[in-house]
Formats: sequence, C-alpha cells, structure tokens
Amino acid sequence: MKIVSIATHILDHELKTPFESASMRFDRRQHCLVEITCDDGTVGWGECLGPALPNAAIVRAYGGRLIGRDPLETEKLWQDLYSLFRDQGQRGLSVTALSGIDVALWDIKGKRFGVSVATLLGGRVRESVKAYATGSFRRDGVDRVTDNAEECAGHVAAGFHAVKIKIGFGVAEDLAVVQAVREAVGPDARLMVDANHGYDVLEAIELGQRAAEFDIDWLEEPVIPEQLSAYRAVRERQPIPIAGGETWHGRFGFKEPLETRAIDIVQPDLCGVGGFTEMRRVADMAALHGVRLVPHVWGTAVQIAASLQFCASLLPDPPRRNSIAPILEFDRTHNPFRQAIVKAPIEHVNGVVAVPEGPGIGIEIDRHAIEEFRLKDAR
Ligand SMILES: [Mg+2]
Repeated sequence: MKIVSIATHILDHELKTPFESASMRFDRRQHCLVEITCDDGTVGWGECLGPALPNAAIVRAYGGRLIGRDPLETEKLWQDLYSLFRDQGQRGLSVTALSGIDVALWDIKGKRFGVSVATLLGGRVRESVKAYATGSFRRDGVDRVTDNAEECAGHVAAGFHAVKIKIGFGVAEDLAVVQAVREAVGPDARLMVDANHGYDVLEAIELGQRAAEFDIDWLEEPVIPEQLSAYRAVRERQPIPIAGGETWHGRFGFKEPLETRAIDIVQPDLCGVGGFTEMRRVADMAALHGVRLVPHVWGTAVQIAASLQFCASLLPDPPRRNSIAPILEFDRTHNPFRQAIVKAPIEHVNGVVAVPEGPGIGIEIDRHAIEEFRLKDAR
C-alpha cells in the first residue's frame, strides 16, 4: 500500500452575522481538509486546526515526502515530517498541518483493517459521548447579556448538560453575562467560561474570585498561552479550575504546563496537537500527572468524527465504577458546511453524540458539498 496523492480542500463561508471571542473576530468560516489517496483506491481524510490557507500551504510542502510511502507507518511518517521543519517549526502551523495529515493516515489505517480508529487505539471504551455546547460569542448589534442568556437556555432546552460561554471582554460585563447565563440555564446545568486569553493576570484573578459563586466548572485560557507563570498565578489565587491547551502543540508543548501544574484540565486539539499519533502521547502525559483531559474541538464533521474516535478510546481515569467520562466540545455557532460535507451528519441527541462505527474515523464525505463550499480562488 502506497500513498499516491495528497490534496487540500479549503472550505469557506462568509458569515452574515460576524461574531467574536476576546482575541479573534470571525467574518467567515474557513477550514482546511486533507485528502490522502493510496494506490489501492483507499482515501483518508483529515483536518487542520487554524488558518486554512497557511495550513494548506504547509500540507503541500509536506506532501512530496509522502508520495510512494506506506500510509500505515504513522510513527515513521510523523517523525519524518516533524523533522522537516523542526528547526523553525516546533510548534504552531507546522504541527497543525501535520495533524491533518496524521488524522488522514489513521483514517486510511482503519479502512485498511476494516475497523474504527478507536479500535486501533486500543478499544472502544464507550459508544457515545456527552457533548457540551460551545457558543455565546459576542455578536454585532445585540445586547451580549440577554443574547448569551437566551442562547444558553436554548442549549439546555435542547438537552445539553453543559454550556461554555465566551468572556475576556472586561470583568464587569463578563460577570453580568455569567450571572445572567447561570440564571437562564438553572442550577443543574454545568457552566464553563472561556476568556480566549483576553485577560491579564489581575483581571483573571478578579473574574475567577467573583464568578466562583456561579458554580463554574473551569476558566479556560485566562491569559496568553505563552505565559505559564501567569497561568500558575491565576490558578493559585482564585478558586475556579484552570483549563487550557488548544494552542499548545506536540508533546513538547504540554511538557511544562503539566510538569509545573500550570493547569487543572488540558485541552489538546486532535487536529492541532499532532493528530492521533501525538494526542495519544499527550493523553498519557496528562494521565501521568493526574490532569484531566477534555479535547478542544473546533472544526467540521471530519474533526468531530476524529475527536469522537479518540474520546471513545480514552480509558477511565481513575478506573472505577461510574467513572468520569470524557466530554466532547460541540460548536453551536453558524457553519453551514460543518455537517454538510458528510453523508451522515454527526448530530447530538439530547446532548449525547454517538461514536461513528464505520472503518477509520467513520465518515463518508459528500463531494458535492466539498465543491459547493470550496474557496473559489484557492488552488
Ligand atoms: Mg477555547
């Protein structure tokens, strides 16, 4: 079995209602898919977290190294590709691009053996995963407090056990949002807040101290991800558990946060951390340090399916009766191609998502939808 071609597909949609986190404005949805084809006709699909055009350029730069290679040799290929840009690219886009390739290779491996990636990873520990609703960005032209509260009430009414809202715009307004959302979702729903590294240390500590009364499961990315000592300061001086990791890449990116206990919950992104190959290592490292892992997910059905395979394979930690199960981040913001690109959309039922059973990551791509949403002037 040999790789014969690698293609990237940039999917694009201009949003009628832009939205923003503390650090980023979304005028369009753009995601980069990776398609790898083998000489026996097997096709694998992956996705890269982050800006689509640079990811696609780097995937193409890796591509020459893959032609003629055996797609089953995922460790060898990972090391070979990572080494290609190691001197300038230990983290960031060189790893997110590699992630999309690695996910596609594991999809091929599953199809080759007729089993799901979760089985390849060691076994399907569970057949479904509870999802939490991600949304509540700041939208143009509406009152953020009532907008977020109404949105979150809708998620809970739809069956979600937990919702995550965006903060990091300013402590006073953020606290008003947190209070309104807690009142809207009621006392039983789980509630998380994500600052998208919009605060400095003192703001994050103040927010954490004052928001704790609203029963918050975690405070995500309180400060910029490079500042691990700042993470530790926030963690030590307010009571809400600290989460982070969607912008850390590879096992090396997680070493210091885990070893210095800068966080309570790590959130590696399968399509950013280095694919299944590296995600397994990071999960082992988190378990070694007794740090909970909740994968970050922000992408199309390709990423959702891949993340479900990973969640399905995660062993209970600690192993016990009624063990803590992983939860899946489920993006509820507008993205018309998120599920349109697969023949069987991956939806939740009462806030629970079934793990695809088919071989590989368990999806079938709808090529008409890929064409419909393809960025028109991209190669
Ligand atoms: Mg986040």
